[in-house]
Amino acid sequence: MGNDSLQMIIRLANEMYRGGPVRAEGEPMTPDTIQNAPLVSGAGVRYDPPAGDTAYYFMPGYGAAPAAGPYGRPGLDLYAVRGDFPILRQRVNGKPLVWLDNAATTQKPQCVLDALERYYSEYNSNIHRGAHTLARIATRAYEDARETVRSFLGAGSAEEIVFVRGATEAINLVTESYGGTHIAKGDEILLTMMEHHSNIVPWQKLKSRGAVIKVVPINDRGEIILADYEKLLSPRTRMVCIAHVSNVLGTINPIKTMIEMAHHHGARVLIDGAQGAPHLGVDVGALDADFYAFSGHKVYGPTGIGALYGKRELLEEMPPWQRGGGMIREVSMEDAAFASPPQKFEAGTGHIAGAVGLGAALDYIHRTGMNRVEAHERELTAYAIEQLYQVPGLHIIGTASEKTSVISFVLDGVSPERAARYLDQEGIAVRAGHHCAMPALRRYGLSSCVRASLGLYNTMDEVDWLVHALLNIAR
Ligand code: PMP
Repeated sequence: MGNDSLQMIIRLANEMYRGGPVRAEGEPMTPDTIQNAPLVSGAGVRYDPPAGDTAYYFMPGYGAAPAAGPYGRPGLDLYAVRGDFPILRQRVNGKPLVWLDNAATTQKPQCVLDALERYYSEYNSNIHRGAHTLARIATRAYEDARETVRSFLGAGSAEEIVFVRGATEAINLVTESYGGTHIAKGDEILLTMMEHHSNIVPWQKLKSRGAVIKVVPINDRGEIILADYEKLLSPRTRMVCIAHVSNVLGTINPIKTMIEMAHHHGARVLIDGAQGAPHLGVDVGALDADFYAFSGHKVYGPTGIGALYGKRELLEEMPPWQRGGGMIREVSMEDAAFASPPQKFEAGTGHIAGAVGLGAALDYIHRTGMNRVEAHERELTAYAIEQLYQVPGLHIIGTASEKTSVISFVLDGVSPERAARYLDQEGIAVRAGHHCAMPALRRYGLSSCVRASLGLYNTMDEVDWLVHALLNIAR
């Protein structure tokens, strides 16, 4: 491409300021089509020149990058991805929205919004009952979504997938049902120091049954100290509860090794996958996890829906934790016989639309390619960490060698809350606070920090915005 036309396209793209037309599939962009295309912001423009020349991506407002570079990785068309998320097109406080609060919740692609709308506008019905057409369609969609979750987690059977509200409810289900029947006086439950409150507080309830909670320590980098973990395991250990990925340190825990070690001592293992499922391929079969919990809203799906994987033999022996319609085989006024898993754990009308939306979200990740998401996020995280170290007085909390795209930090002389408020004025959404991981923060002498967490649609430009804004704060 001649330098003049490149400059012209850059100028046009910049003028549109994050308002770039979405590239029609297979349709090369030219200066004319760029100029005349409708404004659909949040997405970028790809310029495919005649054969032999370099293809370019344009992020309106930010400039151009060769398509072979960080933006144009074969397979992950980042700007097409951004175009799939309508919420990213907006401005917040007059600035283009930079969503870096993905560990709290992720944004939803259009296909998820469409799936929810289609459910309510075309086939809303209660499921598993009612001999009419819409009930059959809704039941089919709900069970298809269960199959999608099964495949996403690598479970052997859809009967091992229980729909729940999210990771929190999944863990409560296990503590109430499994813990309430399998944990007795003197039994030990191991939790790591980096757990989210959702994987601490429910287990504390079992202290009333005489259970003892022991804590696996972490080192200064935010990694589990495996030697100490080994020492804590004993025949008394009944349950080991580990975050796949820490929501405050970003550490990817060596769960396969830890599961093996726990099983060696006869303990069961629950993996809190709330922060693992969005970023890493999961294979519960290969991991040999006993339970794996995750939330739909952190994997680009709706709120109020998530899933618990449990090994079939465990779910079968566990009692129901809530009782009501939909979970029984037979009821008399005196007694009830329960359905098989997973229905045994799904009393009442669940979030049918949510399950359908979750299925659509997991299909979206599958189409995008989890390996591409992982590669993109790995590169982006490395870039972000490198750039953040340029900010004077910024200290990153959690520097594990295996780390995903959760980056927590504090700034000398500026409270996390103030920093987050300033960033918000710049259109940048980050979180400040204890991130529901008070014990982990306390380990580093902190009660609060800023957390920027990246998702599949984030760009290096957005990292640059963040760093630019933080440099202003530091000044
Ligand atoms: N565990 C971890 C590691 C999390 O990050 C979260 C959410 N912040 C949860 C559990 C709880 O998830 P939810 O609120 O969706 O139930």
